[in-house]
Amino acid sequence: MAVTGDIEPGSFRVSLTHLPRRPGNMWESDLEFVAPPELEVGMAKVVPASKMPAQIRIESVLDGVLVNLDFDFEVEAECARCLEPVMWIDHSRVTELFLYEETDSRGRVVQAFEDASEELTFFYVQDDAVDLLDSVRDAIVLDLPLSPLCRPDCLGICPQCGDKLEGAPHEHATTDRRWAALEGLLESTKNDPLK
Ligand SMILES: [Zn+2]
Ligand SMILES: [Zn+2]
Repeated sequence: MAVTGDIEPGSFRVSLTHLPRRPGNMWESDLEFVAPPELEVGMAKVVPASKMPAQIRIESVLDGVLVNLDFDFEVEAECARCLEPVMWIDHSRVTELFLYEETDSRGRVVQAFEDASEELTFFYVQDDAVDLLDSVRDAIVLDLPLSPLCRPDCLGICPQCGDKLEGAPHEHATTDRRWAALEGLLESTKNDPLK
């Protein structure tokens, strides 16, 4: 059964209340997230408010918790060649370490690793929960194709008429009525002795 009660729609904040804070402990569960509106890249996006079923495994380690998340998501996109809508279910996974915040003698939070290197970003356990939004977003953005296709061999659209190039042979005979009218005009100008 999916645990949905403590996860807000659009949020990827998972409570650690089920996990004892001693290394070696582990908590596993099925979860269901609800996709926030802004998970997209280029011509593809996660359907806003769609359900994202997931399996989570959180392990207590010495300095924090190690999160493993497997999740499915619904993608809606436009074929980069023919612009037809395409939808599919995708899958991705996230592995992320969240450190416990250290507090000084007055109880203030000391993020000891913050200045160690500007290149590295650390995630922290906050209010006994982990927020997986950034990790999930990164995984999805890496996963989504920059040029989605309705199928690998999509022929795209005809540059001349904009129709889809598939199925029956597609040709433009010179008898196309729109071109014929133009040609007729050109002919009459050529033959006009006053020009
Ligand atoms: Zn296509
Ligand atoms: Zn055409």
